[in-house]
Amino acid sequence: MTAAAGLPALFVGHGSPMNAVEDNEFRRGWADVARRIPRPEAVLCVSAHWETNGVSLTAAERPATIHDFFGFPDELFAVRYPAPGSPALARTVAGLIGRLEAGHAAAGLTETGLDGERGLDHGAWSVLLAMYPDADVPVVQLSLDTTRPASAHYALARRLAPLRREGVLILGSGDIVHNLRVIDYHRPDGYDWAIRFNDEARRRILARDHDALVDYPGLGHDARLAVPTPEHYLPLLYVLAVQGAQEAAAFFNDRVVMGSVSMTSFTIQ
Ligand code: ZN
Repeated sequence: MTAAAGLPALFVGHGSPMNAVEDNEFRRGWADVARRIPRPEAVLCVSAHWETNGVSLTAAERPATIHDFFGFPDELFAVRYPAPGSPALARTVAGLIGRLEAGHAAAGLTETGLDGERGLDHGAWSVLLAMYPDADVPVVQLSLDTTRPASAHYALARRLAPLRREGVLILGSGDIVHNLRVIDYHRPDGYDWAIRFNDEARRRILARDHDALVDYPGLGHDARLAVPTPEHYLPLLYVLAVQGAQEAAAFFNDRVVMGSVSMTSFTIQ
């Protein structure tokens, strides 16, 4: 831990929404990590489940709980996570990103938007419910601008690093391996290719090989199966991008389940 860097940054594999309500090893892993790291002033979450055209930030004082899934039990639809928002943090983040946007105006990228209506999606609240069950840490979400390539997400995220020194927990919530086309809900472990790609990603995270992780299609056939669409993978890049020169990754919940969903999570500190 380098004090100069501030709070650790955190990536979580969130997996099934049911992890919000089941007492299982993954949910306990999220609760444990919250006890290991200093309590944040606020959370800035980049979730797989908010994709936009242009960058947006939640800016409501009281963001609603969004149940953005189907076919799950009523128990899950009854969950509310009433954490406050932080319009002030949203404005700060917009300012940090805005400087980047100005430099990229020629590329046709849109302005950073503050969204006063948007609530928290399950990529955020399913994890935060375990970490901070009293919902007393303010939460802001930063969307994934799907018009950008992975390299631009990484570049944008580097602008967020100073927030760590202000007590903001940067939380990426996705899955390193996420392929719903071949998911097997009854399988406790991962397919061979899923485990191989998860292992390769872990090796490269430990080796700080960010270039290869940003250019993940270059990692071959396993990568194409593991990341058929980018939204669950990209939150990983937001956490790698704020890694300080002397910081290391520490893994937990490091398993692939249901054939093709990785729960692998880590802190950077
Ligand atoms: Zn998800």
